[in-house]
Amino acid sequence: MRKRLNRMLLVTISLAILSTAVLITAVYVPLLQEQILTDLQDITALLAWDRGETGNTFSGQEASRLYVLGEKLGDRGIRLTWMDSTGRVVYDNRVEGTGLENHLHRPEVTQAMETGEGRAVRKSSTLALNTFYYALQLPDGGVLRTAKDAGNGYSIFSNAFPPLLWILAALLLVGLYMAHFLTEKLVAPIGRLAENMEAENLEEYEELTPFLARIRQQHGDIVKNARFRQEFTANVSHELKTPLTAISGYAELIETGMASSEDVPRFARGIHSSADRLLAMINDIIRLSELEDSQVGQTWERLDLYELASVCGEMLDISARKHQVQLTVDGEKCYIYGDRQMLEELLYNLCDNGIRYNRPNGSVEVKIYREASTGNVVLEVCDTGIGIPREHQEGIFQRFYRVDKSRSQSTGGTGLGLAIVKHIVEKHHARLELESREGAGTRIRVLFGDSMGEEFL
Ligand code: ADP
Repeated sequence: MRKRLNRMLLVTISLAILSTAVLITAVYVPLLQEQILTDLQDITALLAWDRGETGNTFSGQEASRLYVLGEKLGDRGIRLTWMDSTGRVVYDNRVEGTGLENHLHRPEVTQAMETGEGRAVRKSSTLALNTFYYALQLPDGGVLRTAKDAGNGYSIFSNAFPPLLWILAALLLVGLYMAHFLTEKLVAPIGRLAENMEAENLEEYEELTPFLARIRQQHGDIVKNARFRQEFTANVSHELKTPLTAISGYAELIETGMASSEDVPRFARGIHSSADRLLAMINDIIRLSELEDSQVGQTWERLDLYELASVCGEMLDISARKHQVQLTVDGEKCYIYGDRQMLEELLYNLCDNGIRYNRPNGSVEVKIYREASTGNVVLEVCDTGIGIPREHQEGIFQRFYRVDKSRSQSTGGTGLGLAIVKHIVEKHHARLELESREGAGTRIRVLFGDSMGEEFL
C-alpha cells in the first residue's frame, strides 16, 4: 500500500507540475510577446517624435541624433532600421553602410506603408528565438522600424525547466513525507483490527464495512469450526476409551489367570463385541469426515429410490426378525439424482434405527412416493417404537447424541448414524422432517426436491 501510494504521489506531483508549467507558458508567452511589441511601439514613437514636430523626416542634427540613439539601442539588443519611401535602407544599426536589400516587401513595412504602422513576428535564425518587428510610417513616406529578439514559447519553457526540476524534487520530498505519514494513519486502524478482530471498529472506513463483515463472519466460522473439531476430538477419544478399557480389562483378567476357564468364553465375547463397537465407530468417524471433506468417490447418477429401499429391506430382514419387528417396503419407482453409496447408507441408518429403537411385535414401514402437491420424491420411515421425547428431538442429529446411551450401545449404535444421515441429506439438497411421540413411534421423512432432480436428468 505504501509503495503504491508513493508511486501514485510521484506521478501526480510530476503531472501537476508539468501541466502547470505548460499551462503557464501557454498563457504567459502571448502576454510577453504583446508586451515586447508595445515596448517597440513606444520606442519607435519616441524616436519618430524626435525628428521635430514639423519635419517630415530626419535630417541634419536630427539624423545624427537618430544614429547615436540607434547605437545605444543596438547595445540593448534592439535593431533600428530607417527606410525611405521606396524601402531602401537609409540607416541600420546592425549593418554598416546601406548594403542591405530593399525592405519594401517585408510584411511589417508593407503594412506600415498601407496603414501607417505594421507589426510582424518572424522566426530568428536561431531556433529558440523569434524576432519582433514594429514599423511606423513617417510623414515623408519613409518607415522607421525597430526589432527585438525574444525567446519563443519553447525556449521560455526550456529555460524554466531546470528550476522546475528543483521544485519537483522539493515537492516530492514533501509528498513522500506526507505519504508516509498518511499511510501510517490510514493503516493503523487496520493493523489494530488484525490484532483484535472483535474490538476494533472501522467506522471511518465505510467502504470497508462489507469486507469487515465478511472477515468477521469467516473469522467466527473458523473459531466455531475449531471449537467444534476440538469437541469432536474430545468426544471421539472419550467414546473410544470405553470399549478399549473393556478390552484391556478382559485381556488382563485372562492374562493373569484371574479368569476361570468358564469365564474365558464370556470375556472373549466381551472383547469381541467391544472390538466390533470400536470398528463400527471408527468406520462411522471415517465416513463422516469423508462426507464433510470432499467429493472424492462420489458418483452422481439417476437412481430409483424404491429399488434401493427394497434392497435395503432385504438386507435388514434378518435383523428385523431378530428384534421381532415387521419391516415392509412400499411404493413405486421414483427416480432421483444422487450417489448410490450415500443413499444406501441413508436408508440403512434410518431403517436400522427404526428396528433397534422398536419393541417386540412392532413394525417399520418404508414408503417411497412422489408427493403430488409438491412433486418431491419422499422417503418415509415410520416405526411403532419407543419414540423420541420432545426435548431430545433437536439433538439427535448431533454426533454422539443418544437419548438412552445403554440402549444405543447394547444394540450396536455408535451415536453417529443420524449425523451421517444429516450430512447425506444436505449433500442431496434434500430436507429432513421428524415427527415422534414418546412411547408411540417415530416418522422420519426425507424430501428430495423435484427441481434439483430434474436439473440433472
Ligand atoms: P445410534 O447409533 O445411537 O443409534 P443415531 O445417531 O442413529 O445413533 O441416533 C441418535 C439417537 O437418536 C439414538 O441414540 C436414539 O436415542 C435416537 N433415535 C434415533 N432413531 C430413533 C428411532 N427411530 N426411534 C427412537 N429413537 C431414535
